[in-house]
Order: sequence, then C-alpha cells, then structure tokens
Amino acid sequence: MLVVALGAEYSIDATPGFAEDGHEFYSFDGALALHDVLKRFKSGKLVIGIIGQPFKCPPAPCEAAILLDEWFEKRGLRGDIDISVVSQWGVPIPPSPDGTKTILKTFDDRNIKFVTEHMITSLDPTRNVAICSNGQEIPYDLFLGIPVHRVPAVVEDAGLSENDWIPVDDKNLATKFAEVYAIGDVTSAPVPKSGVFAESAARAVADHLIWEITGEGNPAPFDGKGSCYIEFGDGLVGRMDADFFPGTRPTAPFAAPSVLVADEKKEFTAVRRTRWIDG
Ligand SMILES: Cc1cc2nc3c(=O)[nH]c(=O)nc-3n(C[C@H](O)[C@H](O)[C@H](O)COP(=O)(O)OP(=O)(O)OC[C@H]3O[C@@H](n4cnc5c(N)ncnc54)[C@H](O)[C@@H]3O)c2cc1C
Repeated sequence: MLVVALGAEYSIDATPGFAEDGHEFYSFDGALALHDVLKRFKSGKLVIGIIGQPFKCPPAPCEAAILLDEWFEKRGLRGDIDISVVSQWGVPIPPSPDGTKTILKTFDDRNIKFVTEHMITSLDPTRNVAICSNGQEIPYDLFLGIPVHRVPAVVEDAGLSENDWIPVDDKNLATKFAEVYAIGDVTSAPVPKSGVFAESAARAVADHLIWEITGEGNPAPFDGKGSCYIEFGDGLVGRMDADFFPGTRPTAPFAAPSVLVADEKKEFTAVRRTRWIDG
C-alpha cells in the first residue's frame, strides 16, 4: 500500500517576468530572501498578487497584507507605502461571508486595497507592471506573488495526476490505482490546500487502512471539515470553521479576532510541534 503525500510545488517560471522581478513568501527560501528585500523597501506600491489557482491557505495573502501593514507602521514607513491585494475572487474568502466582512473591514481600517481583477498572467519588469488576463495593468514597486502551484514532477512522471492534481475518492482518498491513496495538497480533493485538511485526510486514510488490514474499527469517511486560524495583527487571531462537504455548498462560520483565539492557535501549534517534530 502507498499513501502519496508529496504536497504542491511552485512553478515560478510559469509566469513570465516573475523570476526576474517578483518575490514570494510561500517557500522557505523565498520568505528568507524576501525579508532582506522588505528591509530595504521604504516607499512605493507594494502589490500582493495571487497568480494561480488553486493555492495554499487561501487567507494567507490577506494575512500577509495585514502583518506587513503592522510591520511598516512600527517602522514609521507606512504613510509612504501603498499596500494592495489583487485577487481574481470577488472577496477574500468566498465560503465565509463573516470572515470576508471582517477582513474587508480590517483592510478599510488599515488602508489596504482589495483589488478584484482578472488573473495576473505576467510581469513586465521593464515597466514594473503586473498584467492581467484581460490586459489590465497593475503598477508596482514591489511585487509579492502567490505562485502557480503544481504537483512534484515525480507525481506527474508516475502518471498519478490528471488535470494537474491527483484525483481521489472524496470519502477514503483512494486513487484509481489499487492500494494507492493520496492526501493533502497533491490531490484535487474539493477542499482548500491547507494543513488542517491534509491532517484530517491522513486520519481518514489511516483509519481506513487499519480497517482494511485488520478488519478492526469503524472508519469514518473524510469529512472535509477543518478550522483555519487567520492573523489580524495586534496579536489578534480569528478562526474559520469550514465544512466543505455539507451537501450543498461549503460553509465556514467565523469566530471574530480575539486574544482568546490567538491563545488557541498557540496551543494548536504547540500540540502539532510536540506530536510531529519534538516528540
Ligand atoms: C504562507 C503559508 C501559510 C499557510 N498557513 C496555513 C495555516 O495557517 N493553516 C493550515 O492549515 N495550512 C496553512 N498552509 C498550508 C499548509 O502548509 C499546506 O497545505 C500543508 O503543508 C500541506 O501538507 P502536505 O502534507 O500535503 O504537503 P507538504 O507539507 O508540502 O509536504 C510534502 C512533503 O513532500 C516532500 N516531497 C515532495 N516531493 C518529494 C520527492 N520527490 N521526494 C521526497 N520528498 C518529496 C516535500 O519536500 C514536503 O516535505 C500555509 C501555507 C503557506 C505557504
């Protein structure tokens, strides 16, 4: 039996001009390199642009904008920097109207622009503009892109992916190959590419395999549920309790940003660190 959990990689070259003039914080190396770039950035237009879909952790671009607002404010530079988030979605997080409303209100309070545009398809480094699929141009001085995501080459070479991702049975994460399962970002399961869903999918597959091998247990199907924590700056964190298989369309009630939820996130992180890294 094989469980494929190789995640999603980034295809920087898929977007002309991005490698030359864009930056990203989705990879570890990208985030480290960006830190130095941000320290040198003192004024101008900072654009956070979502380039491809699907992408990991849908609230992350908005969280980045809020945390950057806070960081530049503390350094006394915020007045000289425009921050905008460019998304092809009409709202920051479509399944959560309350979460969306809170993010847009926070953007309003912090003077962050949310620009709904067509997909950004390229950058023109000679003119410092991001170009959208409808020809619209977005000027920038510093462009942070959420890169096009793709499966690792080995997944494609093995013939596991179809239409970019590995198709799986929503209930038990089985692929079309006997005794091969896939979980997390590498699949086209109809849930966001987020760690919480990778974790619950792993649990569902483990229960299913125990039952298949030993005949023991009563494996529950993958439930498509997961809670996402969203950073709002000033030490406040909100929480979205998403359900992607409720029967009709996804739902995601939202717990307003608070210190209480921030403490809950710390505990959530500490448990995973102990379970997976330190333990
Ligand atoms: C900026 C950012 C913020 C995020 N915030 C959150 C959040 O708050 N909450 C949340 O739930 N999720 C969040 N995520 C998303 C989360 O990190 C991913 O969804 C999650 O890690 C997916 O888990 P995975 O096991 O599918 O893949 P991964 O965690 O990517 O693991 C795949 C592993 O496979 C390895 N691998 C790939 N190819 C090979 C190969 N050929 N040989 C050997 N090893 C290989 C990779 O190196 C990697 O270690 C965030 C992501 C980003 C980028």
